[in-house]
Amino acid sequence: MEKTKILIIEDEAAIAELLAYGLTREGYEVQYAGSSADGLKAMETFRPHLLVLDWMLPDGSGLDICKRVTASYNIPILMVTAKSDITDKILGLEFGADDYITKPFDLREVIARIRTILRRFAQAGQPAQDEAGADPLRFKHIEIVRGERLVKRNGETVDLTPKEFDLLLKLCTNRGRIFTRDELLELVWGYDYVGETRTVDNHIQRLRKKLDIGELITTVFGIGYKFEKEAD
Ligand code: CA
Repeated sequence: MEKTKILIIEDEAAIAELLAYGLTREGYEVQYAGSSADGLKAMETFRPHLLVLDWMLPDGSGLDICKRVTASYNIPILMVTAKSDITDKILGLEFGADDYITKPFDLREVIARIRTILRRFAQAGQPAQDEAGADPLRFKHIEIVRGERLVKRNGETVDLTPKEFDLLLKLCTNRGRIFTRDELLELVWGYDYVGETRTVDNHIQRLRKKLDIGELITTVFGIGYKFEKEAD
């Protein structure tokens, strides 16, 4: 069986080595990177199942990496922060981190947290891999062939714009998760996109109509949208 792979992005070598040592001993396959740039490269080549992410890096912030990783990969993130600053933690959790630990930490606690996150993630029915995983994806009368960016409704191909497709995929591969409109704007339209949240509403409305899945994409009043969990 393939080992569960963990990537550590952390510029303090002593901490990275301690984590790598502890996690390897627990049976995980571990790689670490000392900068944002190397970390993002390792995301591509190493394809980890979980990311341990330091919040303060020499060439960028953990938040930026967090946004990028959640936009392209479906893996849990444990953020490591030296700060006791609560806004950092809230921000991190809002942008896709699953949990956080504060330095200095106890290695056993980190390992316990990682186990919990991986278990929770597996239970959520999401493969701990990127979104290009199982193909096609099916729910109700809809079939999505991700490799071909194709969506079928009762076997008939539906004409979706690229953004409608991306939005649908983002929602239905994260079932049960509530996304804010701003978050969806960033994830689907790119995080530099300065758009209006109405854009999201309009796309959602069109998706519901084109696919006849109004009841699956629900509006969470005052927050945003989610794709219903029991969708099959
Ligand atoms: Ca650091």
